[in-house]
Formats: sequence, structure tokens, C-alpha cells
Amino acid sequence: MTEPVVFRWHQAEITAIAPVTPHVKSVRLRCGLAEQYRAGQHVDVRLTAEDGYQAQRSYSIASAPDGSGTLELMIEGLPDGEVSGWFSDCAEVGDRVELRGPIGGSFSWDGPDGGPLLLAAGGSGVVPLLAMLRRRAQGWREIPAALIYSTRTRAEAIAVAELERLAATDPGVSLHLAITREAGGRRIDAALVAAALARTGPPGKVFICGSNRFVAAASDLIVAAGVAPGLIRTERFGA
Ligand SMILES: Cc1cc2nc3c(=O)[nH]c(=O)nc-3n(C[C@H](O)[C@H](O)[C@H](O)COP(=O)(O)OP(=O)(O)OC[C@H]3O[C@@H](n4cnc5c(N)ncnc54)[C@H](O)[C@@H]3O)c2cc1C
Repeated sequence: MTEPVVFRWHQAEITAIAPVTPHVKSVRLRCGLAEQYRAGQHVDVRLTAEDGYQAQRSYSIASAPDGSGTLELMIEGLPDGEVSGWFSDCAEVGDRVELRGPIGGSFSWDGPDGGPLLLAAGGSGVVPLLAMLRRRAQGWREIPAALIYSTRTRAEAIAVAELERLAATDPGVSLHLAITREAGGRRIDAALVAAALARTGPPGKVFICGSNRFVAAASDLIVAAGVAPGLIRTERFGA
């Protein structure tokens, strides 16, 4: 019997590595999966050591399919993190890893799915939502989109320059930052959700991604603002 495509491991070669924040790196990989995914989906990444030891973790795809034969991941190096630590400290251009996927059909978006889009991210949970905004920019700019993005500090905000540029130049996009650990900081709250909804109008699709705690808080606030729970798709990154 033929193995389903999603369960096959694909060889991938790192073609570029660049810092995104002090703890997050952008890793671009050349891989056969590069044109087969939808914005918001993730891949499993498998590392194999010389002695055969293997470790695998899930990473969201940050890029939108662009015909380059590559896809981009954004990986936050966690203290003592087995896989993220390797990407953070050891990975080099030319290294090979394996990818499996794309995974996560319901947490994905493409232009024909429509909107408006209400997006809410905590920390590295912004990665799949960035992919959705990048996809939207490829040909669906008429669809309103608002991103609520909670991050500990501004320096830790992933792709903040790109997001701010998008919000400043595209009237259909708004960015609502909640910086939690700086002077005057705030967490995601009802006022922030109301400001985002004022820009989009009633959303057709809602995507929330981050830690368990962030996803629970954001879902509660968005439902309290009157959004039907059935429109909401969530993805949890873990701790
Ligand atoms: C669907 C999905 C998509 C994901 N996408 C991304 C992504 O785009 N970018 C990204 O950086 N990560 C992403 N993650 C998290 C990623 O899969 C790993 O859990 C993370 O990189 C830690 O793996 P590690 O091997 O480095 O750490 P481990 O060796 O597994 O753990 C090291 C330490 O970190 C703690 N820890 C484990 N996971 C997390 C976490 N997510 N947050 C905080 N502490 C943690 C552990 O408790 C432990 O103390 C995603 C997870 C899921 C389920």
C-alpha cells in the first residue's frame, strides 16, 4: 500500500539562516514540500545524530508558497531545548534535516476561504498567522485582517518591522500589539479585541495561536466580544 503523502519524510537542506529576534531564527529550507502547503500549516522536523539518535518537533511554516522551492520556519531557541537549541546554536547552511507534512488542515487559510480575518498570537504563535498575512498580500488584499499580537517585549516580537510596515501601507490590515513586560505594558484584553473588531467588522475566520494560557484567554475574550465559537480555530504550541 502507498504511504499517505503526509507520513513520508522528505529530505530538506538549509539554504539560509538569519536572526529574527535575539532568540528566534529564520531557517529557510529547500524541500519537495515547499509548494504543497497552505498558510497556517506546520511540519514535523526530524533531526538524526551520527549515532542514529533521532528527535522530532513540530514547527509552523512562516512563509506563503512563493514558487522558490523553499519554505521558511521561525524557531525560538529555548533554554536546554533539544531541537530548537540545535537550530539556535549548531545549524548551518547546507545541513540536512527531514520534514514531514504539511499538517493541520483546519488551522490553515487561503484567499478563496474569505474573511474578514481576526488573528491573535502569543509569542512564537505569530508564525502561522504571519504566513496567512503573507498569503493575503499575494492576491487577497481586499480581505480585511487584524492581528492581535502579545509578546513579552518589543525586542522579542517576531517580524514586527514587517508587520508594522504592512499595517502602515495596507489599509486592510491592522496590528494591535500587547507588550506584557515593558513599562505601561498590557495583556490582551477586551479593549484590544474591540479595537481589532472595529477594523475588520464581523470576522468570517478567526485563528488563535500560542501557549495554552494565551489561547484560552484570547478565545474567551473573542467569544465574549460576540464572535461565534464555531468560527474560531486554535493551535497550541505547548508550555
Ligand atoms: C503545531 C505546533 C507548531 C509549532 N510551531 C512552532 C514555531 O513555529 N516556532 C517555535 O519556535 N516553536 C514551535 N512549536 C514548538 C516546538 O514544537 C517545540 O515544542 C519547541 O521548539 C521546543 O522543542 P525543544 O526540543 O527545543 O525543547 P525540549 O527539549 O522539548 O524542551 C526544553 C524545555 O522547554 C520547555 N518547552 C517545550 N516546549 C515549549 C514551548 N513550546 N514553549 C515554552 N517552553 C517549552 C520544556 O518544558 C523544557 O523545559 C510548535 C509546536 C506545535 C505543537
